[in-house]
Amino acid sequence: MPHADLVLLHAPSVYDFRRKSILYGPVSDLVPSTPVFEMYPIGFTTIAEYLERQGFRVRIVNLAVRMLNSDRFDPEKLIQKLHPAVFGIDLHWLPHAHGALEVARLCKKYHPDVPVMFGGFSSTYYHEELVRRPEVDFCVRGDSTELPVLRLMQHLTHAPQAPALDEIPNLTWSEPDGTLHVSEITYSPPNLDHVLIDYSYVVRAVARYRDLASFVPFKGWLGYPITAALSVRGCTHNCRTCGGSAAAFAGTHNRRRPAYRAPEDLAQDIRNIARFSKGPVFILGDIRQPGEEYADRFLRAIQGYEGPVIVELFDAADRDFIRRLASAMPNWTLEISLETHSEEVRAAFGRPYKNAPIEDTMRYALEAGVKRLDVFFMIGLPKQDYQSVLDTVDYCEYLMRDLDSGPERHLIPFISPLAPFLDPGSPVFENPERYGYHFFARTLEEHRQALVQPSWKYVLNYETQWLNRDQIVDSTYEAGLRLNRLKAHYGLVEMGQAERTEARIVKARRLIAQVDDIMSLEDEGRRAKLLRAVKPQVDDANVSTVCDKAELNVPLTGLRLNLPRAACFFIEQMIERLWPRTQSDVVSS
Ligand code: SF4
Repeated sequence: MPHADLVLLHAPSVYDFRRKSILYGPVSDLVPSTPVFEMYPIGFTTIAEYLERQGFRVRIVNLAVRMLNSDRFDPEKLIQKLHPAVFGIDLHWLPHAHGALEVARLCKKYHPDVPVMFGGFSSTYYHEELVRRPEVDFCVRGDSTELPVLRLMQHLTHAPQAPALDEIPNLTWSEPDGTLHVSEITYSPPNLDHVLIDYSYVVRAVARYRDLASFVPFKGWLGYPITAALSVRGCTHNCRTCGGSAAAFAGTHNRRRPAYRAPEDLAQDIRNIARFSKGPVFILGDIRQPGEEYADRFLRAIQGYEGPVIVELFDAADRDFIRRLASAMPNWTLEISLETHSEEVRAAFGRPYKNAPIEDTMRYALEAGVKRLDVFFMIGLPKQDYQSVLDTVDYCEYLMRDLDSGPERHLIPFISPLAPFLDPGSPVFENPERYGYHFFARTLEEHRQALVQPSWKYVLNYETQWLNRDQIVDSTYEAGLRLNRLKAHYGLVEMGQAERTEARIVKARRLIAQVDDIMSLEDEGRRAKLLRAVKPQVDDANVSTVCDKAELNVPLTGLRLNLPRAACFFIEQMIERLWPRTQSDVVSS
């Protein structure tokens, strides 16, 4: 099997999650991953593809998904067998703080001379703390690291005309004596023209390394191959807890303006993905953010696309726009994060739109034939107290009863806590008192330690002036219980499934109380023993806590992956890659 120049490793949230007893709670109910957060960031594929275009060989190894898929899989043995020139590890989402550092430690244990680099949003925020650790050599910062990673690879592999370390932008490293070097984030491209986001690299690399298992983005992906199409890096909004907000991008990534993918390229990315996958394509970012003209150009370019597409809107839209959306992509699902029923709470969160226009938007979507309308509500918002959370559930009933009253149900509400961590770099994290928040963890090391606490109540890195940690947990379960019953009542989930969800919530509540009792014991040994004893029940309660994860899935029919077409696509790609070289060989000879 060919050796890779760069191996990109994706760690589970907690490295030894298979042995530890941790009641994760509903932290991942609303994302495709399990609580191990096995999905690797989309940046892995853009970096890999970019480097391959420049002649480097890159392999992605999703250790998290392989550990989930088999108890017998030994990540340490696999790391030992890998022999790249450089290891790259993502610490994009902070819940990977434990796993990512442990994987880095193992890389150093078996390959002390192979450099280890980190990247991602959380790495950028904690770059200095990271490179002071013995297991981390470099941190590549910013939201777009394709070029800095290329330059670092050229340096580390002694490529011709390789730059010196201090010539590489966005880089932090430390010398053995502890001297820290931090180069400015000067690489922040104004658009996304330089990346290819159609996963063609993944198809090629799977064939090259004969290792589909390591490239799978999350457990169950082969049965539900959802992919993402990236319209933007950055955001024009400032939701108070979001590490991807305009303020966080400016403060952490030195990005003053969002970088957009050209609308025609975005449409082509989606069509390219459809060549090998029939799963839904999630268009990340509201396509209206760059303005009307962008949305128009995109809708013209994607007109007639029949595959399932998930679109997100960040605020209200008019009827004409919704109609055009429906006409361009008739197999569409709409996602709206309303956050709360309360206009006051929503405004405090940084989304000042009112209920009436967003309800109109939902009506327009339903009348335009949206296949699914997912509406998301959150717990842990500024100015949101316990009663407000329960009032949101009442509002969900109003939406199901009054907005979507036809024989076929399309509007599905979800409620979930902001958990386990509020993002570093977000306005709330940077200025907690101003927004009524209190943090239990600030540094990377504190978050790493929080992750191995025995229940999600202790893992949460925050509480608010209106909801303490106990109340966040309790209101989450109470809201989940009530919403689940309402969904059953309005026919959104089958009675049997609703009963199973209710049983899980009741069990999770009992376990939270049990873990609290165990944690109140002074004898550490006895605490550990009792936590081990409840592990089987904890594991059982860890997936789909307040709703069934399958509720999020867009219904698919027939084959999910088009393997023959993927194979053809792979061959076409190889020919396309070889052809120009053959031509230039002919010319130069
Ligand atoms: S949560 Fe708000 S700030 Fe964050 S990406 Fe979405 S719209 Fe932008």
